[in-house]
Amino acid sequence: MRDKDQIAQVQSTAESWSPQQVLSWAFEAFGNQVAISSALGTGGMVLIDMASHLREEFRVFTLDTEFLFPETYSLIDKIEQKYAIKIERVFPLLSPEEQERVHGAALWIRDPDQCCGLRKVEPLRRKLSELGAWITSIRRDQTSFRKKARKVEWDVKYGLVKVNPIADWTLKRVWRYLIEHDVPYNPLHDQNYPSIGCTHCTRAVRPGEDERAGRWPGTGKTECGLHIIEIDPLRRLPEADA
Ligand code: SF4
Repeated sequence: MRDKDQIAQVQSTAESWSPQQVLSWAFEAFGNQVAISSALGTGGMVLIDMASHLREEFRVFTLDTEFLFPETYSLIDKIEQKYAIKIERVFPLLSPEEQERVHGAALWIRDPDQCCGLRKVEPLRRKLSELGAWITSIRRDQTSFRKKARKVEWDVKYGLVKVNPIADWTLKRVWRYLIEHDVPYNPLHDQNYPSIGCTHCTRAVRPGEDERAGRWPGTGKTECGLHIIEIDPLRRLPEADA
């Protein structure tokens, strides 16, 4: 099921599927070649919990920039215990010290795009090169870049299938699931951090701000680059690209 034409066939049908149906399809179609990609935010926790009810074994990976909050590292331990899984931690090629030596101090302030490129995008690309599909928790209501996300789509940027089971969910619905199913989550969410990334680039949001306002505050940056431009719904793909 790696052919774009085959994906095109399921794409519109998948839009009416529940997240569990989307996940089941992905597990069935890709087996060990599909993994949940998660920064272990609220949406990712929903997917991990759902997956645990569908399969005994499933793959989850996270991009460990080595700049994560202590609370995030504790959550990784908690998830591994509760769900009896081993989260695959994907590290950048350069340690923080090496990055400073090569690119100078505090790259995240001077050039956050380059920093995210080194610590997130390259590791993600490396990880995805070993997979046939990846599962993300992106939602259409999160940013303007994510509005066009389909539940099943061909990822032009990375050249594999991208699965977004909760693309049509709202943050409220995500929270309802977490509470109703007693799913563990990052305690920083209770301290006004709706979206949590690296310590250097995440702050609490103020009342009235949107859920990603605390990411790269003051820079105009809203995405780390992982989900930008690769989303090109199949119906709009040029023939030559098929
Ligand atoms: S979120 Fe900040 S610290 Fe983390 S990789 Fe991106 S720029 Fe660097």
